Amino acid sequence: LSASLTEFELIARYFARAGLAANPAQDPAVVLGIGDDCALLNIPAGQQLALSLDVLVEGVHFPMAADPYLLAQRALAVNLSDLAAMGATPVGFSLGLTMPRAEPQWLDAFSAGLRDSATHYHCRLLGGDTTRGPLQLAIQVHGTVPAGQALRRSGAKVGDDVYVSNTLGAAALALQVLDGSLVTLSSEQRADLLRAYYQPEPQLCLGSALCCIASAAQDVSDGLLADLAHIAKASAVGMVLQANAVPVAPVVSDLVSQEQALLLALTGGDDYQLIFTANHAQRDNITQLAQQLTVRVTRIGRVVSGASVKVLDSQGVAMGFTQQGYQHF
Ligand code: ADP
Ligand code: MG
Repeated sequence: LSASLTEFELIARYFARAGLAANPAQDPAVVLGIGDDCALLNIPAGQQLALSLDVLVEGVHFPMAADPYLLAQRALAVNLSDLAAMGATPVGFSLGLTMPRAEPQWLDAFSAGLRDSATHYHCRLLGGDTTRGPLQLAIQVHGTVPAGQALRRSGAKVGDDVYVSNTLGAAALALQVLDGSLVTLSSEQRADLLRAYYQPEPQLCLGSALCCIASAAQDVSDGLLADLAHIAKASAVGMVLQANAVPVAPVVSDLVSQEQALLLALTGGDDYQLIFTANHAQRDNITQLAQQLTVRVTRIGRVVSGASVKVLDSQGVAMGFTQQGYQHF
């Protein structure tokens, strides 16, 4: 990769570092980490392995010249969010890194961001592959979930309630800060928005607590409506949402019109909140759980027969949206 740094030195220096690399002496799930042909994991009896892979490409999924420390944190967080959406608990992750050249400063900041998130979420690096090419990060997370209890997209039933965690819209508005189209804001608002984009909090505790409670779940990556449509399709149901129940991030309400704020919350992506459905008999359980975990959980609608996801305004009239979240193709 570089005349001054061999591939093996690079891996040893930046990826096998303390706090980032899985350490079998400290982690009973890990039998063998970085350094051999494969990593080896223990899967406890009664648990299933949950896997998810995301590829992030410079210029497509993150801006050119993104801060490497924050980029690393975002890359791991969006993957952990997929585990959260299945109710799984992280065990570790693999990293496929392609980059044009080995820049020590970039690698140092990138691996420090990964290390801090790996430590925070108890999800350490198990192995990977490093090659030369355009900047791309592929992360595969590995988690465990009690056998048969994973939260799927396909379990929503007519009559269920529809919920979302925390608030929506901030990550989508952050993109307007990053592309320079939103410039009139305080440094605090700017920091709030960029945090939402670069450091989303995967809802791991909520996800695993929902295992015996929710009928279906997913995380919001493409946008609330687009992602609810995935649950609706997989479950062969429709949904009706109340526009005024959708929790918009306060920083978004402060910065744009009410109409714009709602549009961002409904169709903006990248928030990595959980959306889920549950039988109405679970309402008290869900309220209690949200209090225990200090997570805001909002009931935003219900599951109906049909195939579409409709949004009703305060008069009960269906609202039209041209854009159902972000589509890659
Ligand atoms: P192989 O030729 O068997 O694929 P490599 O030379 O690619 O082995 O990798 C050597 C070791 O370093 C392996 O254990 C691999 O998992 C690990 N590794 C390589 N790249 C990375 C990376 N980006 N992050 C973490 N571990 C890595
Ligand atoms: Mg390899």
